[in-house]
Amino acid sequence: MDGFSLTYDGFDPGAEGLREALTSTGNGYLCTRGAAEWEDADGVHYPGTYAHGGYNRETTILGGLPVLNEDLVNLPNWLVLALRIEGEDAIRLADVELLDYRHELDIRFATIVRDLRFRDRSGRQTTLRSRRFVSMADPHHAGIEWTLVPENWSGHVEVVTAIDGRVQNGGVARYQQLEGRHLSPVSPRTFGPEVIALKAETRQSNLYISEATRTRVFRGDQPLQVERTLHQMEDYIQQVLAFDVQQGAATRVEKMVAFYTSRDPAISDTLVKAAKSAARHADFAGSLERHNAAWDELWRVCDVRVSGNERVQMLLRLHIAHVLQVCSRHTADLDAGLPARGLNGEAYRGHVFWDEIYAFPFFNFRLPDVTRELLMYRYRRMGEARAAAREAGFRGAMFPWQSGSEGTEETQRVHLNPLSGRWEPDLSRNQRHVNAAIFYNIWHYFQTTGDHAFLGGYGAEMMLEIARFWASIAHFNPERERYEIHGVMGPDEFHDKYPDAQKGGLRNNAYTNVMVAWLCGIAGKLLSLLPASRAEALRGRLRIDDDELAIWRDMSRRMFVPFHDDGIISQFEGYDDLDELDWDAYREKYDNIQRLDRILRAEGDDPNRYKLTKQADTVMLFFLLPREELREIFERLGYDYRGDTALRNVAYYDRRTSHGSTLSFVTHAGVLAALDPESSWDRFLVALQSDVDDIQGGTTKEGIHLGVMCGTLDLVQRGYTGTHVREGILYFDPRLPSRLDGLSFSMQFQETPMVVTLTGDRLTLAIHPEGVSRPVRVGVRDDVRELRPGDRTVFELSQDSAVAGRPAHD
Ligand code: BGC
Repeated sequence: MDGFSLTYDGFDPGAEGLREALTSTGNGYLCTRGAAEWEDADGVHYPGTYAHGGYNRETTILGGLPVLNEDLVNLPNWLVLALRIEGEDAIRLADVELLDYRHELDIRFATIVRDLRFRDRSGRQTTLRSRRFVSMADPHHAGIEWTLVPENWSGHVEVVTAIDGRVQNGGVARYQQLEGRHLSPVSPRTFGPEVIALKAETRQSNLYISEATRTRVFRGDQPLQVERTLHQMEDYIQQVLAFDVQQGAATRVEKMVAFYTSRDPAISDTLVKAAKSAARHADFAGSLERHNAAWDELWRVCDVRVSGNERVQMLLRLHIAHVLQVCSRHTADLDAGLPARGLNGEAYRGHVFWDEIYAFPFFNFRLPDVTRELLMYRYRRMGEARAAAREAGFRGAMFPWQSGSEGTEETQRVHLNPLSGRWEPDLSRNQRHVNAAIFYNIWHYFQTTGDHAFLGGYGAEMMLEIARFWASIAHFNPERERYEIHGVMGPDEFHDKYPDAQKGGLRNNAYTNVMVAWLCGIAGKLLSLLPASRAEALRGRLRIDDDELAIWRDMSRRMFVPFHDDGIISQFEGYDDLDELDWDAYREKYDNIQRLDRILRAEGDDPNRYKLTKQADTVMLFFLLPREELREIFERLGYDYRGDTALRNVAYYDRRTSHGSTLSFVTHAGVLAALDPESSWDRFLVALQSDVDDIQGGTTKEGIHLGVMCGTLDLVQRGYTGTHVREGILYFDPRLPSRLDGLSFSMQFQETPMVVTLTGDRLTLAIHPEGVSRPVRVGVRDDVRELRPGDRTVFELSQDSAVAGRPAHD
């Protein structure tokens, strides 16, 4: 293993969906699952292609009720390449005897490779090598290369090359009852003898998608004259390329593809654009070379190296590759949000949740342009967020829990419980905490980059409008003399209301309230960070008066936080009164109890009755806010914050958390890095392996968990290297896990690139010689140093601070 390969030997129909998701190839503009080119969607295989912003709305009539959903659309399948030997049926994996089979994602260059040796029904043995990539150099391009060698025969073959617009959204079993048709045909077309093209349109959102392809056959470097037969329908176009092959001789087929949508800049007719682009496309080798060079550059900026554990290294790189395949520099030109399940499947319909909060730390320090664009996705949807606040009777901007094309609330009102087969109400839209996450994300982007232009132009406006929303949803309780927030949910989705209550929502979710206290503190001083004229203009436009600023300041000191009697923070008011669950009994009865909500509901019970938590909720506070900052907030609020507050609360909730979202492992690993390093490492490993091992039993094939993948990278950076920015200084608080010998990565702080290297006893920072000439300040505890381009500095670390949990004899 060279740290850059995810390989599967042997074909396993049951695992193919998972492998397809994990071997997807993409470039931050479009992404295609790692399905074999010659297979259709059939329960084992699921070719799927998705592009940022490619949404469409459809209504399903469910039991007489209209249910509206917005989906990220599965776009026409450009992969289709099938082999027919001597006029027989096209080769399919299920119909041949596989002598050798290898399916690989080359992580370094995001290239999918399939190596097959098979014997067909007529006893012919053939080897086929397929390589394919979606170009990181030219975002509208992709390529497939087949190398075909007949081992014991010579004869006539036909290669079918097609673009298939008959696809539907059918990748998630739970959604089968929902409308999956999103595309209308527009037209197929040929351009010259070699290029075929297809244009489709989304049925409701009227987005045009055009794909074109030029397929050629080569013997050595020489193009082979082939006979071409065309067949076209309104939603499908194919060419059949017929030629002879000789025993032992390699023949190559190159299918070069161009892909455009009407959302692209610099576009008129997408069909003509795609066709011209396919005709101009370089050959496979030339195009791949450019693609590889683009990835080389990305790895220089984004690689995270660890020594001492090869599998951890491979999985970190797998995560980096996937994250970049969904969000790269190309994404920075699009109006794209961060889809929770990547562009690799249809779970959660490509919607954008709060998962950005797990993803941005990685981007902020490496590709801040990507964060900026993903934040602009929110800014452009402020109009809807303002309208949503108004319609709910609030002020400011209330961003939706699930966001899609326009930024309206896309959370479904009912969802299917696969265990019971029943449709249950979905109240999760009450997760208003997404509005704290957006505020947090803007603030951290600004802290890391020092991007004053963004803050002044867009960021501050969003932050102020979010603070205003929180001030309006909160009310002052004169008895407690504190501000309270009712009717919301925290990140824990197992509690959406009080047991037996008619209405959704809870009172005083501690996570939400503390985050609101934190953000109100920042909102109160935000205007002072802007140039005076900008601050004045913004205040005037948003009509922020002194009273409003005073309320925010007051809220930062007087938000209510519920506690149990023994000093444990109550996840929400009344949590302490709930019943304890008999965890052992459930563990015994069910193999996997991560989704206890479904289990309890299928049993006719209600998770709301119990002290159980789907995922880190209160614990999020210790994850997001550095120790000192959290202590300051609690002290400002007039609550006790003791040395053991974090430890006791984390232990309390850990015992009551089912980790029904894998994000929860990231959060707990992050918090435990300082408290219980061994346990932190165990959680880190679970998060790291959660997609590759599909620990939730079937969810990864429906799309990777992008927040978790980014979260594991952030654990190395923030959890184990302890990076955090405070008052313009980049601090490190290293806690190298005892299972690693060292780690190293590049990062960029306030436009200054540096390389960070951590070993057992020293932290070395090397500032790139060509960084922006402004000095940056870095520190370990009280030792703060100023560094300039070309500087290198070493912090000697005392053994106990540097190596968390390393046994004395190690
Ligand atoms: C989690 C949310 C998350 C969403 C999308 C849910 O299962 O509970 O916190 O935002 O998945 O990843």
